[in-house]
Amino acid sequence: ATPLKTLDPEIHAIIAAELGRQQSHIELIASENFVMPALMEAQGSVLTNKYAEGYPAKRWYGGCEFVDQVESLAIERAKKLFGAEHANVQPHSGSQANFAVYTSVLQPGDKILGMNLSHGGHLTHGNPANFSGKLYQFVQYGVREADGLIDYDELAATAQREKPRMITVGASAYSRIIDFERMAKIARDCGAYLFADIAHIAGLVAAGVHPSPVPFADFVTTTTHKTLRGPRGGLILCKAAHAKAIDSAVFPGAQGGPLMHVIAAKAVCLGECLKPGFKDYAKKIVANTQALCASMEKRGYKIVSGGTDNHLFLVDLRASLPELTAKKAQETLDLANVTLNKNTVPFETRSPFQASGIRIGGAAVTSRGMSEADMDEIAGIIDDVLKAIGTDREAAAIAGSKQRVLALTARYPLPYKF
Ligand code: PLP
Repeated sequence: ATPLKTLDPEIHAIIAAELGRQQSHIELIASENFVMPALMEAQGSVLTNKYAEGYPAKRWYGGCEFVDQVESLAIERAKKLFGAEHANVQPHSGSQANFAVYTSVLQPGDKILGMNLSHGGHLTHGNPANFSGKLYQFVQYGVREADGLIDYDELAATAQREKPRMITVGASAYSRIIDFERMAKIARDCGAYLFADIAHIAGLVAAGVHPSPVPFADFVTTTTHKTLRGPRGGLILCKAAHAKAIDSAVFPGAQGGPLMHVIAAKAVCLGECLKPGFKDYAKKIVANTQALCASMEKRGYKIVSGGTDNHLFLVDLRASLPELTAKKAQETLDLANVTLNKNTVPFETRSPFQASGIRIGGAAVTSRGMSEADMDEIAGIIDDVLKAIGTDREAAAIAGSKQRVLALTARYPLPYKF
């Protein structure tokens, strides 16, 4: 067998460079994480060779006796971890999981109440450029301007007025506890299905660090690659009554053959989440994120909603650095080896391409082994770069910060070889 380095040196070199980037940068993108090498072993296995359209013991192809075992284990672990009645582990991504939920019980044109993208919602919650916004009639809810929190009273009033068929709850950039029980009552009172998208917080939910929507929601989806620390992919949990509709919506509704190598990695991920150590990891994520958030606040930055209960927070740059766009902030921090993303803030005044917020997440640095003591150094690095932008100190601040990042990342090497 020819090794990749010989077979395709171009691709090999790019992957090696990407590993170098990951080793030498501070990763603060809230939707990313570092998986364990053993999980990559499962994902890089011969399971990639196998077609398995259908579900365990109900496949369209022969030779599925081993992949059946893998998928059954993944399903059982998902159900156990979240206390769910049914699990589908086949969605290739979070977006595909959401597609399956909508199509399982809704018709094109049906009304859905979903969270506004610029208030923290996701593309698949009704953005006009996304299938969700094209196929369904979305009405949006958001957060209160005064405190950045979901306005449940207004949401309940909107639900009563609009009578949606489904209410979508869950976000990509909301840093506070979501009251799923309250959401379920609002949905019940207007006769809507409740769909909770916990793509971001699933790891915290699994660990009991954030309340679970599973007892209250008809449908729950998540990605497996964020706080769950698994492979890139999606997962659906639902009540037994919707099991058949969900399975048909995934296959043959939305997808063909499942990615069995990814499902094996999902099973490994879910197995890890079931171990006692995962609770500590999830608690550490929140502690680190809160420490980082406090360190930014201490340096004069305004945090949307005033803080965080989970693995992320949003800095509204307009308060302390009104001239600085988030795009410029992101690009300049990149030069200092700090990776994060620009994000619109609620009641945004700039275009989404420029934006006024930076989203900061603590899951990846926690996986790397960093602790609360390191969070103040990270905040100091970010602050030095941001405050120097556009001044004659800019180049020196970038160079100095990069050295500090390299010193910090060298203390916490990633466990990968390539
Ligand atoms: N839902 C939410 C709330 C998300 O934040 C994301 C991704 O960031 C998704 C769904 C979609 O996941 P994917 O990128 O795997 O399609």
